[in-house]
Amino acid sequence: MHDNTYLPDHFLRHIAAIMPAHLSMDEFVASCRRPLRRSIRVNTLKISVAAFVARMQPLGWQLDPVPWCDTGFWLSREDERVPLGNTAEHLSGLFYIQEASSMLPVTALFACEQTQRDGMLLDAAAAPGSKTTQIAALMDNQGMLVANEYSSSRLKVLSANLQRCGVTNVGMTHFDAKVFGQWLPETFDAILLDAPCSGEGTVRKDEDALRNWSIESIDEIAAVQQGLLESAFHALKPGGVLVYSTCTLSLQENQAVCQSLQDKFGDAFSFDSLADLFPAAEKACTPEGYLHVWPQIFDSEGFFVARLRKQHSVPNTMFKPGKLGKFPFLPLPAKESEPMLREIEAAFGVVPQGNLFGRSEEIWLFPQLFEQVQGKLRFDRIGLKLAETFKKGYRLTHEWALAYGDGASKGFVELDIADAREFMMGRDVWPEQEAAGTGEVIVRYQGHTLGMGKWVGSRVKNALPRELVRDNNLFV
Ligand code: SAM
Repeated sequence: MHDNTYLPDHFLRHIAAIMPAHLSMDEFVASCRRPLRRSIRVNTLKISVAAFVARMQPLGWQLDPVPWCDTGFWLSREDERVPLGNTAEHLSGLFYIQEASSMLPVTALFACEQTQRDGMLLDAAAAPGSKTTQIAALMDNQGMLVANEYSSSRLKVLSANLQRCGVTNVGMTHFDAKVFGQWLPETFDAILLDAPCSGEGTVRKDEDALRNWSIESIDEIAAVQQGLLESAFHALKPGGVLVYSTCTLSLQENQAVCQSLQDKFGDAFSFDSLADLFPAAEKACTPEGYLHVWPQIFDSEGFFVARLRKQHSVPNTMFKPGKLGKFPFLPLPAKESEPMLREIEAAFGVVPQGNLFGRSEEIWLFPQLFEQVQGKLRFDRIGLKLAETFKKGYRLTHEWALAYGDGASKGFVELDIADAREFMMGRDVWPEQEAAGTGEVIVRYQGHTLGMGKWVGSRVKNALPRELVRDNNLFV
């Protein structure tokens, strides 16, 4: 029980006025004070759900399926000494710590035939990346996903999460998301707008979430959300699908934002009913077909999800191309890319997928569909940095290893648990194996990649990026 959860009277009066008749305020308050159940989502870019369950059950992990997400589980652990984020499985990107109700928007986005894994998708407000990584996994790293985030510090966290999870099909941008309708009209097959919001649904995680709550602040943020939704709608192709979601409960930020779009463009789109999204979804379904997830319904955070389909174009008075700046990359000529890909295949037994581009001392692997947005948008980061070059060759990156290392059939070394811990602490290791190798080596623990190293005699020199080195409380 969280007795200190701050639930001010004026907030509770506001909620009582909008609580559906079949739900109780007492249960609402009780659930707001109850700690959240832990939940995780298995990253199928790296491991199947069955293999993950088989790996974790012997370690005393109890995994109870989240009914609206095939890869989501509520988790209880017998031994909680090691924080979840410091487990070997988290460090190698096998799962993402994600609140169960926050898995709903992406499920809704993909539960319709319009959203294809090889399409051009937009995640308009993406950091820290729980839904970006969920989308990328459902796309199986195909097509292209533009992941945008306005806050610079959160953009860095997004980037780290994409790398850890082996995501290779994302182009990251750093804008106020209201630019997309102006700069890229009718460009995306599917869009997620997981909007910035007042976070009323998050009190179970953060007991002070409502410290600064006021009607004025939700009205203010609702105006921002309306602008973002309108812009996202312009950026959506006719025939495309858009999901609008928040982790808040007030009608102003949810139903009213959807209504504002309906008032403007009502004949050009329709909202889908999400009542059949999963068994029991109707318990959270509004008359309009949205999911308004009160925390007591599924014992989760509060959430709101609406999905619309755009039937036809609308006049767009917003259109104006964006400022691009200089694009520093050039496609890598075949005489450089082909030998490099052949070498990588010969050394590791995997072939990197995508288009190779170079800039100064770097070689990058861009997503398949990048050319569709090339010259239309300034990116902060595109795809994956494959290698750093120097006079006599190149060095493959940590992020390449995290994306491709699990699939390597050679050129890797398997560490035991003691060496794996040493490696994650930034130290060199002397693995016990028959023969030491030469050159760069993928370092794995129980079949999944921790990073890159380099053979020096029988020692593997540690090439873990400094910012990923952990000094204590690692997996046991
Ligand atoms: N989708 C994320 C996830 O699942 O991990 C959570 C997104 S959070 C609800 C909203 C995000 O929008 C925040 O990271 C915030 O910094 C960002 N943001 C705020 N204003 C924005 C704007 N005008 N354009 C784009 N992003 C914005």
